[in-house]
Amino acid sequence: MSYDSTKIFTNDYYCTDKHGGILSIDLKNLHKNYKNISSVASKSITSATVKSNGYGLGLDKVAKTFYSAGCRVFFVSHLSEAIILNDAIESKNITIYVLNGLPKNSIDEYIKEGFRPVIGSLDELHDWVNYSDKKKLPPIALNIETGFTRLGLYPNDLIKVASVIKSKKNINISLIMSHLACAEDKNSNMNVEQLILFKKAAEIFPNVPRSICNSAGLFCGENYHLELVRPGISLYGGYEGIYKRVELHPVVSLHAPIIQVKEVSNGVRIGYGSTYKFNKKTLVGLVSIGYADGLIRSLSTSDDNKYGADLFVNGIKTPIVGRISMDITAIDLTNVPSENCKRGELVEILGPNQNIDQLSKNAGTISYEMLSRLGSRFKRVYND
Ligand SMILES: *Cc1c(COP(=O)(O)O)cnc(C)c1O
Repeated sequence: MSYDSTKIFTNDYYCTDKHGGILSIDLKNLHKNYKNISSVASKSITSATVKSNGYGLGLDKVAKTFYSAGCRVFFVSHLSEAIILNDAIESKNITIYVLNGLPKNSIDEYIKEGFRPVIGSLDELHDWVNYSDKKKLPPIALNIETGFTRLGLYPNDLIKVASVIKSKKNINISLIMSHLACAEDKNSNMNVEQLILFKKAAEIFPNVPRSICNSAGLFCGENYHLELVRPGISLYGGYEGIYKRVELHPVVSLHAPIIQVKEVSNGVRIGYGSTYKFNKKTLVGLVSIGYADGLIRSLSTSDDNKYGADLFVNGIKTPIVGRISMDITAIDLTNVPSENCKRGELVEILGPNQNIDQLSKNAGTISYEMLSRLGSRFKRVYND
């Protein structure tokens, strides 16, 4: 179905629909965000990190958008994602790195499509090297452990690694990378320490492009950009309003309909655990969205009978009352004009009144988690 922004948020359009909520993804803004982020690191290659189904927004759609904005290097986490991405982009002049490295017995898959594993342990390297005598292999990235303590080869092992690789004609390194642990805190010493360690380690592989920046790293300073940057969340509008140096646009909006309006009396309790008790007669809307859709339960009423997080009806705050359940969330409609207090009325969860950062903050989490957990049963509408 094609996207019509004038129609999409009208109830008439919506009511004929089978889905609980409607997740709208603005690919134009995604495109703009890629362009704007690239301009921050204009001397480097700007790749796009599209792991976890493109941060929950649809790997094929977001990857195509980045491709059309000029992106040619992509990072996914799993081999399965590399396959989806490769199928999505017809033109084969792209490079796909698989961050989680080399699953056992997977090398043939890498060879077949030319995917590049990000090698992060001696074990993985060993497997790759053993294979190199048998078949021609795609280039690889080496991940260097500099303080994040996730995947990565220890700097102390690199001299050995380099000599093994040198002895094999068939092994090419196309990227040396590492990952910052504290980039969101520009003043953290970790950033400087990791950068120094990384640059030193990379000297063992002269002339190989280097990469250490995620989105936040981009704003730690130009000396972090090196030859390639790997933004993710910022492309999806996840840092909207936080960074002042670049204009980022919101990419997602999320609405769900009220399926029932009911008037409850003073003293009535609502939801599992009866955590919220009304202290006056109140009009309540039951909204067709729940934690199964990624509206995580921490947005519920806390146990002290206070309102939960705000959702919005027609721009007006409608706080959550009681616990969010799997498929239903209750909101207080007290301040909403009566013409909007009706079955079929769309409730804004994400949109002009609340961006992904705000909602995530209210939920006690980060935009990454909120986005990547957005449910699969929404109607997804792509605006391109
Ligand atoms: C997820 C990820 C990124 C992108 O990080 P953002 O904070 O979303 O910009 C970059 N590099 C690696 C290794 C990652 O895992």
